[in-house]
Amino acid sequence: MTLFFFFAITSATEKLGLRRCGRFPCCGTGNVPVLVTCVSRRFLLFFIPLFRFGKRYFVSCPNCRAVYEIRKDEGRRIERDPSAEIDPEKIFRISGPPVRFCPNCGTRVDPGSRYCPSCGRKL
Ligand SMILES: [Zn+2]
Ligand SMILES: [Zn+2]
Repeated sequence: MTLFFFFAITSATEKLGLRRCGRFPCCGTGNVPVLVTCVSRRFLLFFIPLFRFGKRYFVSCPNCRAVYEIRKDEGRRIERDPSAEIDPEKIFRISGPPVRFCPNCGTRVDPGSRYCPSCGRKL
């Protein structure tokens, strides 16, 4: 008798809904509802989803479109509590346009510069 298993791993994207985020470090946009998405992988055995693993949470800045990944523990907290706000200390920028804005005065700055040319704040 031959036993064989058919299994596959797929990834699924879910929208968790709109949450507020304190302040995005990219351009200082804050207190606006942003869409949180969750990407997870599913383990399928004979086309039946058995379990999910490797959940990751993402959010993108509505102003400059920079993409952030939310730390796992923070993502879980947000998923459980629909009224929770995203803590900007717990998000990490993973991509975005090659422009930056000074968090202090909002001036557009060169991505390579270390100080704001307008107000002198360290970036
Ligand atoms: Zn931004
Ligand atoms: Zn500045």
